[in-house]
Amino acid sequence: MAQESASKMDKIVALCRRRAFIFQSSEIYGGINGFWDYGPLGTELKRNLKNAWWKDIVQCPPAGPDGEILDMVGLDSTIIMNRRVWEASGHASGFNDPMVDDRETKQRFRADHLFGLFIDAAGAASEGTEIPVVTMIASTAGEALEVFETNGRKWLKEAGAAMKIASCGPDGIVLDHRGAPVKAALAPVDGALLRRAADRVPSPFTQKTGVLTEPRQFNLMFKTFVGALQDEDSMAYLRPETAQGIFANFRNVTDTCRVKVPFGMAQIGKAFRNEVTPRNFTFRSREFEQMEIEFFIHPQSAEQWYSWWRESRFAWWQSIGLTSSNLQMRSHDRDELAHYAKLGAGTSDIEYRFPFTAPGFGELEGVAHRTDFDLRQHAEYSGLGDKLKYFDQEKNERYFPHVIEPSAGADRGTLALICEAYHDDPARPSGVVMKFHPRMAPIKAAIFPLVDKDGMPEIAGNLFRDLRRTWNVQMDVKQNIGKRYARMDEVGTPFCFTIDTQTLTDQTLTVRYRDTLAQERIGIDRVRAFLADKIGEN
Ligand code: ATP
Repeated sequence: MAQESASKMDKIVALCRRRAFIFQSSEIYGGINGFWDYGPLGTELKRNLKNAWWKDIVQCPPAGPDGEILDMVGLDSTIIMNRRVWEASGHASGFNDPMVDDRETKQRFRADHLFGLFIDAAGAASEGTEIPVVTMIASTAGEALEVFETNGRKWLKEAGAAMKIASCGPDGIVLDHRGAPVKAALAPVDGALLRRAADRVPSPFTQKTGVLTEPRQFNLMFKTFVGALQDEDSMAYLRPETAQGIFANFRNVTDTCRVKVPFGMAQIGKAFRNEVTPRNFTFRSREFEQMEIEFFIHPQSAEQWYSWWRESRFAWWQSIGLTSSNLQMRSHDRDELAHYAKLGAGTSDIEYRFPFTAPGFGELEGVAHRTDFDLRQHAEYSGLGDKLKYFDQEKNERYFPHVIEPSAGADRGTLALICEAYHDDPARPSGVVMKFHPRMAPIKAAIFPLVDKDGMPEIAGNLFRDLRRTWNVQMDVKQNIGKRYARMDEVGTPFCFTIDTQTLTDQTLTVRYRDTLAQERIGIDRVRAFLADKIGEN
């Protein structure tokens, strides 16, 4: 299974390169770890994803739980902001991961991703607990990479399976994704234990003991300088999330736009994190794009809005083609919650089963009840205090609204669309077909004159010029028709229109359907309506 997934992923990465979806950044100089460029087709795909999100969230959002259409506005805030923003949000001090280094291999791991399996069925990692016999490295709960055995105990297999989906509570018991304790003998190698026992915990990849350093803090934010001087005062951060730009503009928007709680602000933009171990293609990058919503609500309606957003966001991913069993919703355990979310209605992840996480899942979007944490922090750090509160004129009530935050990754979303679309098909000349949802497909339709003469290119050209005003379509006159179809299968174009000899007499052409390979004839004058019906106009 793991091997099958690996080879599927290798094929997907190769296709992305070959067909101009995704390239390594700065490839001609050997690349740069954790950075990726989108080629012409990948750019279209990602843009389709972002446009669909914007349209379905900001421009034409659905009706909320009360049946009223959501009040949503957009925002485009800067990547570099006043440093105080990140002090208020907690990122400057709290966006730290305790890291341990392998002194020999120079590899670096997050301390909280090293899990120990203890010989005693003791549960919590307490003073005097036996040394671990198994070490696991994972980048997040749900994204275990390797499980290593150091003395061949028989429960290794069972632990490995559990750890693939495990999350870890503060009491040191590993829980599976349903929240059930897996084995009382599992415990995280926490900072305190590692400080005491760093020389006894095996390094994940070499399994050697005595090579790990004690945990050290490591801030994930990229730093730069603003202005001519490069000193402590001019230091600034590249934002690690777009959300804080929304909170920092909360007052501007409530003062200037006619919005009333409940309402939401949405933003799409770049975020940067100096991830310790970027990997899994674009899944964990150092520069990536987020699509974030902060939805401001009355504190008493948090439960209702939280569950509505969870359902609504899940349904949205399904609507753009992630319909298979590869999509799941996972509620966080209390112990896993971010500090601010502990008191709230909860946090859930919408997860996708990528080939590299299978049989486990990886996070696509988090939906969190952030309470009023961020607004209160900004009220305090900016000195605005109660002036940052929202005033409800009807009820004559002044308060800090609570927030439900659906925060999605555009790159992980694009990657999920690619993985979902990929189908081997030995019966086709291309050997592979990308079954993108028509709304997501980078090229919506291809127009082929059967031969490059007899007036066919002219008819095709007229159709092309008309359709391209609305959709991204391509015209191709070269090569035999089979090769042209094969190329379109490989990039996931849902429809091909072929102009042939019959077109010259009756103004009909052939439509070829990508998924079924069925062909039918329709009038040229009906092509526009056909595409509008199958794809819509965005
Ligand atoms: P993870 O646990 O995987 O590191 P996270 O919980 O830190 O993710 P959030 O802070 O909730 O992620 O960010 C919201 C979304 O941004 C994620 O659901 C994901 O889609 C995207 N995202 C976060 N980090 C990265 C990254 N390094 N590369 C690509 N996308 C990312």
